[in-house]
Amino acid sequence: MTEKTETFELVFYGTSGWFDNTAGATSCAGITINDTDIVLFDLGTGTRKIETAAIHNKNLTLILSHLHLDHCYGLHILPLFRPASLTLIIHKDLKPYAETLFSYPFMKPRHELGFPVTLETVEDNLLAYPAFSIKTRALQHNTPVIGARLQINKTSITYCVDTRLCDAMLEITKDCDTLIIEASPLVGKKTNGYHLSLPELQKVLMATNAQKVIITHFGSLQYPDLESRKRLITTIKEYHHNVMPAYDGLVIRN
Ligand SMILES: [Zn+2]
Repeated sequence: MTEKTETFELVFYGTSGWFDNTAGATSCAGITINDTDIVLFDLGTGTRKIETAAIHNKNLTLILSHLHLDHCYGLHILPLFRPASLTLIIHKDLKPYAETLFSYPFMKPRHELGFPVTLETVEDNLLAYPAFSIKTRALQHNTPVIGARLQINKTSITYCVDTRLCDAMLEITKDCDTLIIEASPLVGKKTNGYHLSLPELQKVLMATNAQKVIITHFGSLQYPDLESRKRLITTIKEYHHNVMPAYDGLVIRN
C-alpha cells in the first residue's frame, strides 16, 4: 500500500444496479484528475447528474466495465458535455459492439460527435498517460467485463462491479487505497451466478489492503431505498475497518 500525497475528488453519480429506483440512478462515478483530465467509471443513468462543467473541454477517459445497458446508457448523452476528447477503455471482445453503439441508429456516429473518440481495447493491460495510469483485469460476468485500478501519482482507486469472485478480482482489489466494489445480495439471498455473493464479498473485504471500501451498484430489486443499503453494511462491517455504502451525490475527498 502506498503513502498518500495527492488529493482527489471522487463523486458517485449513480449507485444502483440494473435500473433506477428512489435510492439512485445506475452506475457512474468520476474523478477529476486535474484541469484537463477527468476519468469516469461506467456511464449508467447517473450520467445525467454530472455537471456539464465537470467534463466540458476536458479529456474524458471512460472505463466501461462492460456493455450491459445500466453501465453504458449515458454514451448517447455525452455530446451534451462537449468534452475535448473521449478515450473509451473497454474489454477487447466488446470492441465491435462498442463501435455499433457509436453509430446509426443508436446514437450520433463517432465522426459527428464533435470530439475525437479513441477506443482502447484491453484485457489484462497497463495504460500509461501523463497524469495517471490504468491497470485492467478481465473478470468473470455473463459477458466480457473488466475491473480497473486507477493510479494518480501515489494514490490508487480500484473499481470492480459485475463479476463473481476470481483470482483476477482478488489481485486487482488487494493493493489499492480506495476500493469501489459492487453490493452482494443480503444474507440468505443468492446471486444469478455472475455477481459477488455475500461470502465472496466478505472474502474480498478481508483480503484487501484498501484504507476505504465503498459499496455501490446496489441491485434495485433487493435494495429499493437507502435504508436497505445500510442493512448490507451491518452484515459486512466486521470484515473491514472502513466500509461504507455509496449513494448518488456522495463525494469522497482524500
Ligand atoms: Zn452486468
